Amino acid sequence: MSKKELPSHAKVVVIGGGVVGCSILFHLAKFGWKDVVLLERDELTSGSSWHAAGQIHTISSDPNISRLQSYTIDLYKEIEELSGHSVGLHITGGFYLASTPEWYDYLKRERSKARYMGLNQEFISPKEVAERHPLIDPKHYHAALWDDQDGDLDPSGATYAFAKAAKVHGAQYFTHTPVTATQQRPDGSWDVTTPDGVINAEMIVNCGGLWAREVGHMQGINLPVQPMEHHYLITEEIPEIAARDTRLPAGIDYEANIYFRQERNGMLLGTYEPRGTPWKVGGTPWDFGHELLPHDLDRIAERLEMSFERIPAIGEAGIKDIINGPFTFGPDGNPMIGPVPGMTNYWCAVGVMAGFCQGGGVGLTMAEWMMDGEPSIDVWAMDVARFGDWATPDWGTVKSTENYERRFVMTFPNETLPKGRLQKTTALYDRLIAKGARMGQGFGLENALWFADGPDDAHEVPTFERNRSHDYVAREVATVRNDVGGIEIANFAKHEFKGVGARAYLDRILAGFVPKSGRLTLTPMLTPKGKLYGDLTVACLADDHFMLFGSGAMQEAHRRWFEKDLPDDVSYQNVSDDWHGVAISGPQSRALLARITRADVSADAFKFRDLRQTYVGGVPVILNRISFSGELGYEVYCRPHYLIKLAEAIEEAGVDLGYRWYGARALMSMRLEKAWGVWTLDYRPDFTAAQSGMDVFINWNKDFVGKDAALAEKTAGPDKKLVTLVIDVEGIDVSNDEAILLDGAAVGYVSSGGYAHHVKKSMAMGYVAAEHAAAGTCVQVEILGQMYDAEIQGAPLYDANGANMRA
Ligand SMILES: Cc1cc2nc3c(=O)[nH]c(=O)nc-3n(C[C@H](O)[C@H](O)[C@H](O)COP(=O)(O)OP(=O)(O)OC[C@H]3O[C@@H](n4cnc5c(N)ncnc54)[C@H](O)[C@@H]3O)c2cc1C
Repeated sequence: MSKKELPSHAKVVVIGGGVVGCSILFHLAKFGWKDVVLLERDELTSGSSWHAAGQIHTISSDPNISRLQSYTIDLYKEIEELSGHSVGLHITGGFYLASTPEWYDYLKRERSKARYMGLNQEFISPKEVAERHPLIDPKHYHAALWDDQDGDLDPSGATYAFAKAAKVHGAQYFTHTPVTATQQRPDGSWDVTTPDGVINAEMIVNCGGLWAREVGHMQGINLPVQPMEHHYLITEEIPEIAARDTRLPAGIDYEANIYFRQERNGMLLGTYEPRGTPWKVGGTPWDFGHELLPHDLDRIAERLEMSFERIPAIGEAGIKDIINGPFTFGPDGNPMIGPVPGMTNYWCAVGVMAGFCQGGGVGLTMAEWMMDGEPSIDVWAMDVARFGDWATPDWGTVKSTENYERRFVMTFPNETLPKGRLQKTTALYDRLIAKGARMGQGFGLENALWFADGPDDAHEVPTFERNRSHDYVAREVATVRNDVGGIEIANFAKHEFKGVGARAYLDRILAGFVPKSGRLTLTPMLTPKGKLYGDLTVACLADDHFMLFGSGAMQEAHRRWFEKDLPDDVSYQNVSDDWHGVAISGPQSRALLARITRADVSADAFKFRDLRQTYVGGVPVILNRISFSGELGYEVYCRPHYLIKLAEAIEEAGVDLGYRWYGARALMSMRLEKAWGVWTLDYRPDFTAAQSGMDVFINWNKDFVGKDAALAEKTAGPDKKLVTLVIDVEGIDVSNDEAILLDGAAVGYVSSGGYAHHVKKSMAMGYVAAEHAAAGTCVQVEILGQMYDAEIQGAPLYDANGANMRA
């Protein structure tokens, strides 16, 4: 093959010509960056894209991913017209079949989301299922959720259409051009080496799909993704289908763990095996081509039997083709996209396991992010920064396999998944387990959710309803509200800033007040477009030394944010793992603290939002007088090796004060009755300071990132507002994403909620259109398909003026 003429420079080089890379190329060019190039080692589609089953649907556990899936499906017509290349699109509509009451409940939750997202989904009866798809035996089903937008396409056609449409917009792509090295220049740009020459690119994007890990390794990046083997089969012609003049709808049967659709005059049926088979754990060979893997029907025999009962015609028809091909999964099944933390101008879009449902949305988001500096909607569920160093390749394989196996397995709100546990623990782990802790995992770290009566009692059954932990959590809440409780706080993020320029830098990136030495403030952090990008507690340890405390989950995303344009006179480090600790809260917390510190912690000497670097329990600590429980309380941070000593001291000093450990569920309950939101649920980049109410912490008398947008919104007034609701319901609470309705129409959605144990009310927080946000407004909240009356609250239900906290 003759050497091709590669450009010597490009704004962006996209590595990999699967559906994801081609979609990113298309969006960049469509939005105006013409100097963009895609390099593909073989032909386009040479990874997993060519052998996909081509089924497309909108449902996803994350509403913003659902939105992007809907966008993806709508986009196919546009790229087909623009490129002149057929994508083989069939929008047949599709259904999600519920054969158990639990799956019916699950789908009711999905239906509720669709209501406020404006997606066209409706329930149909088993009879209607059989009318729309006569090959299905309806006796197995309670109901089905129907979605107008679902269907199928030709995967290769779609990938080529993206690439050719990108070309129409001015982009270039080169096939048979493997990238063999990526090397960064001092100016931050990248030299991308191929056998045909080197392209210098301002930014590069790893869209390596099956080779995402290998492309990452070129730069020392270990992405925790794992290709998995996956089977689907195609039947011989089925006479009933051949006799039809309309195409059958697509479908998913969760219990049978199958997806299916019409393929020519037969059927295509795929399944996620109960025991997933990771493929090429050690690395994908560069010479893997347009190849399939040996199939093994034994692995899917049970699933096939079930599907033959439910769609008997499939069992009766012969099997024409069996496909076993690999595709790449991430640890939680969602894509990993965005700028890679710790790198400059290095982007990735990998682990996209449903590329034909999600590729368009991933392309849109990546292009917005690269061109505007931030995506137009919160894509936290896809952000590569939701994993850190702890997400090692081994952990990635274990969790990706678990996720593959659970693709069509329900996860309940109170469920903690079993694989990849104990990845990170603190010194207190065994101690808390011995006391009955039921653990969850956040950003890789085990943390206590609630405490049973000893280890044998620490179990619960996954459910949508109030679960077994309910009464135990009530006990923990009572301890904090009446006596004193302690919660481990290793899982809070800690960010340390030092240097003469630290105060000025923080004043610019934070919208709120930066405290004077020895004090704490709470502040929102905004994006240039005025979206929330953090709610942080700022501690001033010295005039040139600050610690920021924030969401543990966001710590890598925040690191990426802080490192982006750090001035030379400021040093920054994510020190989350260097500081563990315990927060003690409750009316007796001061008495307890006074017993284990020589510092004067009396109300006058150590005021609300004061901090000290002192000794507690005989170990050096940072002591913050602040609490998220809404009670008098203190956060005591120590180095990890002092944690047991500190915990022992707290426990011993608290014996006669009623001390008890409490977990995250109690904390989440208490913050509800204080009407405080939490990051990733109530506070996230989908919302602004004014919408979330965080604008009360803004210091308007200074310049800060996002000020113009925040000021404009202040003047115009926010279009929606975060409100607190009390719901008239028994035995079940909201979790999140339920629709809020007024006169039958969706006016908002629940961002978080649960049971507020002290005030004994079922509560929610949620965003509603501003005109309906007044206190006293009566609305309805949909929980598992039932509408419940709810009232928007004014002041917090507990300690409205904060007197207890400030005592
Ligand atoms: C059996 C099966 C059924 C599926 N069914 C569906 C379905 O019904 N619906 C759905 O939405 N999804 C389905 N998928 C998943 C879908 O195929 C993937 O999500 C999608 O292909 C991912 O696309 P990608 O671009 O990320 O990766 P890939 O398709 O793997 O593309 C990566 C590309 O990068 C290139 N590349 C790698 N390294 C380099 C390098 N160094 N230099 C240059 N180029 C490089 C590769 O050659 C390859 O072409 C299925 C997958 C399988 C295996």
